[in-house]
Order: sequence, then C-alpha cells, then structure tokens
Amino acid sequence: MDHPVSPLEQALHAARALVLADLVAREVAEADVVSLVEESVVRRRWWVEQWPDGVEFLAGLVAQDVQDALLERYGRWPLCPVCGTGDPHALEIEPELGPDPHWVCHQAGVKVAAVGSLGGAFGTSVS
Ligand SMILES: [Zn+2]
Repeated sequence: MDHPVSPLEQALHAARALVLADLVAREVAEADVVSLVEESVVRRRWWVEQWPDGVEFLAGLVAQDVQDALLERYGRWPLCPVCGTGDPHALEIEPELGPDPHWVCHQAGVKVAAVGSLGGAFGTSVS
C-alpha cells in the first residue's frame, strides 16, 4: 500500500464494515441508517484516540451505538432468530466492552453470530 492507513483507521473501517454487513443482513441498511453508523464511527474515533487500548472493542461498541440509535427510531434490532416463541426480542452484544464481540440471545443463552456475521445466522430462517 502506498498510502499507509493507521491501525486505528483500519479498525474503525473494519467496525463500520462489520456493522453495515449486519444491517444489510437484516435489510435495514437504508441511507439514514448508514448515517447512524457514520455518527457512531465519528464518536468512537474520538473515544479510541483518548484510549488507544480500546481499539479491539470498536466493532462491539459501534454495533451497540447503532442498536441504541435504531431502538429510538425504528425499534428493536436485530431481532432474535433463535427463539420461535414468546415476545420478539433483540440480540445483545457480548462482551459489551471487549474484543471479538458476538450477538447473543440472553433468553436462550446462546451465541447467535459474531458481529458482521448475522447474515449467516439468519440465512436459513428468512424467506
Ligand atoms: Zn432469543
């Protein structure tokens, strides 16, 4: 690469791509939703500049930011694909602040997918 990109920018780019992949998987990647991701990336860029050790946590944090923003504007996201019965509920990020974040269902107590891999988890349950 003849234009070096800092590890921080790479991590932000990766986090953005992972969360966008999950939004696309759930068919909510509309223009205004993408802007929610951009807002989170801007906020987290500032955050990780203050705390560079948090670079591994970016994907989970961006996913949670977008989840919170969607809850205010659209409702729960992403809905749990595991539980066929009961009230619809959203998956949660685990760990909330750590590397290698996953979407988990606390009701079923299962890891559903890594952040960025929701498409695979939903692939068989969505027509
Ligand atoms: Zn569930």
